[in-house]
Amino acid sequence: MKIKEYSNPRNIKDAYEQLISREKATIMGGGVFLKLQRRTLPFVIDLSNLGLTGIETTPTGFTIGAMVTLRQIETDASIPDGLRECVKQIAGVAVRNMATVGGSVMGRYPFSDVLTALVALNATLAFYKKGEVPISEFLDQGLEKADILLSISVPKVKHSFFQTYKKVYTDFSLVNLSIAKADTYTVSMGATPKHAKAITLESIDDVRAVLDQFDFQTDRRASAAYRRALAKALLEDAVEEAKKWKSL
Ligand SMILES: Cc1cc2nc3c(=O)[nH]c(=O)nc-3n(C[C@H](O)[C@H](O)[C@H](O)COP(=O)(O)OP(=O)(O)OC[C@H]3O[C@@H](n4cnc5c(N)ncnc54)[C@H](O)[C@@H]3O)c2cc1C
Repeated sequence: MKIKEYSNPRNIKDAYEQLISREKATIMGGGVFLKLQRRTLPFVIDLSNLGLTGIETTPTGFTIGAMVTLRQIETDASIPDGLRECVKQIAGVAVRNMATVGGSVMGRYPFSDVLTALVALNATLAFYKKGEVPISEFLDQGLEKADILLSISVPKVKHSFFQTYKKVYTDFSLVNLSIAKADTYTVSMGATPKHAKAITLESIDDVRAVLDQFDFQTDRRASAAYRRALAKALLEDAVEEAKKWKSL
């Protein structure tokens, strides 16, 4: 990645005005994924000076600033297990120190572990211009206009769980799964190889019935049948974990 012109605005209004007025403007979170691309970016807007770096507990859950790093999530005990676990296997600590939760959401990467966990948790995204958008709606439809993600709100859950299958520790998931339990269970499956989708259920005990609600497909990394077999194993582990929740 090469950057022709760089801006580091001090307030969100300036950042947004630059985004909509400058041709081919690109927002930069941690810049980790952008850096992998072999292209020249004419104008980059760095969000690091906007104070989007806090994790706040609210009466109904918690809110994570878009510039919170994956390492902050990993090391904050107030974050639900499902979200904390999902970041632990993403690259190494050096990458997790730079990669942001905002960049992970806005990339809409189908392999994303972070998105699978946030979808299970029914997160809501807060954009500067568009306001609040449920995460599943954002994944299905994207945005009509360029915008800046400010924060992510996550409602309280009783329990949550994340599991993935990666060929090696730092690889991308071949399939990933997250479950959150509030009054009902929300099961989210990602890297199918499509982006994460969630279903809500009273019970997850019938593994086959749960799996039948997801569409596994073949790509160059794995066949649909292999992905479904992996998902079955992950789900069986989740059912065992959920049995412990019942006794807590
Ligand atoms: C080696 C490596 C391995 C990885 N492995 C995994 C993995 O196994 N699982 C996984 O889930 N992820 C993985 N990731 C992805 C990583 O978790 C982050 O998703 C990625 O680095 C993006 O975060 P970032 O802050 O660097 O975003 P950036 O690179 O800065 O931006 C990514 C995209 O989001 C946009 N953007 C960023 N922030 C905002 C915002 N606030 N508002 C609007 N748009 C915004 C940018 O314009 C860009 O299009 C990996 C990344 C690397 C480099």
